[in-house]
Amino acid sequence: MNNLITAKFGGTSLADASQIKKAAEIIKSNPARKFVVASAPGKRFSDDIKITDLLYKCHSQAKNGEDFSGTLAKISERYAGIIKELGVDFDIKNEIEIIRKNLEAGTTPDYPASRGEYINSKIIAKFLGWTFVDAAEIIFFDENGFLDENKTFTTAGEKLKSLENAVIPGFYGSMPDGKIKTFSRGGSDVTGSIIARSVSADLYENWTDVSGMLSADPRIVKDPKVIEYITYTELRELSYMGASVLHEDAVFPVRKAGIPINIRNTNKPDDNGTLIAASLPDNIEKRAVTGIAGRKGFSSIRVDKSMMNGETGFGAKLLYIFARNGIPFEHCPTGIDTISVVVNSELFDQKREIILREIKSELDPDFITIEKNLAAIAVVGEGMISAKGMAARVFDALAKAGVNIRMIDQGSDELNIIVGIDEGNYEKALNALYSGMIA
Ligand code: ADP
Ligand code: ASP
Ligand code: MG
Repeated sequence: MNNLITAKFGGTSLADASQIKKAAEIIKSNPARKFVVASAPGKRFSDDIKITDLLYKCHSQAKNGEDFSGTLAKISERYAGIIKELGVDFDIKNEIEIIRKNLEAGTTPDYPASRGEYINSKIIAKFLGWTFVDAAEIIFFDENGFLDENKTFTTAGEKLKSLENAVIPGFYGSMPDGKIKTFSRGGSDVTGSIIARSVSADLYENWTDVSGMLSADPRIVKDPKVIEYITYTELRELSYMGASVLHEDAVFPVRKAGIPINIRNTNKPDDNGTLIAASLPDNIEKRAVTGIAGRKGFSSIRVDKSMMNGETGFGAKLLYIFARNGIPFEHCPTGIDTISVVVNSELFDQKREIILREIKSELDPDFITIEKNLAAIAVVGEGMISAKGMAARVFDALAKAGVNIRMIDQGSDELNIIVGIDEGNYEKALNALYSGMIA
């Protein structure tokens, strides 16, 4: 029995008044849904622009001394349309004026970006007749920009539990000096998880525009199967690798407290969606492959040096060069006399010259080879550890599709097999792996 539910609604679920009405119907249909986390209005059709993107645009125009009034007017008009159709009493002009003044005075991008969720949540709270609670007053970051868990869980818990129900904007919180800070893009999922944890919810519902976590990206693979049940660990793996339906950090706050997540479709509320928990229900068998996810945009920096194997600390020194330049590594496959570091290309390109110089001067390698435009795809499943021939099936599927494998990495938890391929083969590889491993 779920007595207390935190329900987060994403941008497409709240993109216009008719979507907000659907969300409201879902919210009111179960009195356990007492705390609602709302995103900013997202896209209404495929080439529409998200309110959050318009707000970032205002900021960059203001920063460059350009006129941002046209962009701000678009935002204002969209909210005005929503307000009118919902029939709520809300002074959008005043809210927009506050944003304009702050932009003119000069702000970080985080402040205007957060106003998308702030205004939408205030409107939705009015429409529901619920209390609005500003995330800046209950979600706190420390001076290094990390979530201050203790302060947040305690403050948010105390504040919200004193209320009958509330709407809380997603995506942001406040720094110790009171300034607004946002999570990374898609971060309202993280807010939902934090609120679920703070109020000790029985369930964290994440309402979006697909009927759950799908076993592959639906924008690339046609009609992938819905994953009915998935563990936190598998989900973390898939979302980190690119299954963008849920922010990659959203699992952490609820996981510690064992609160399950249910991904649901606002447009098909009768679908069960995906249930995410610490373990699968007893009657569900562990699958060798639960899902496939990937991303483009990686580079591999391969360092060759004869007798590397005998040189203690070579790998540590190499990784330290990346670390000290602020570049996290994603994978690090090694051979006897070679070691490759796979990193995000965008980050690497900013530090490329300095990193190469340091590798040459500190490690004296025979060669350094850089491969750009790599994509990484992970085949993920908790049953993989005990299933035989999984790697063979991965290689077979890719070979049959004519995709050359540039890198192989099996996570030490044996939960995944990751392959690196040319970006140009990404769509083909994803489809081949889906047909060969899941369909
Ligand atoms: P919201 O605005 O509700 O937060 P998002 O756009 O952030 O929604 O996430 C939902 C989208 O994620 C889907 O419309 C889909 O295109 C995309 N997506 C990518 N990979 C997956 C996957 N494995 N399963 C489901 N959706 C996925
Ligand atoms: N509105 C923010 C974004 O577009 C946060 C979110 O939707 O989760 O990234
Ligand atoms: Mg999202």
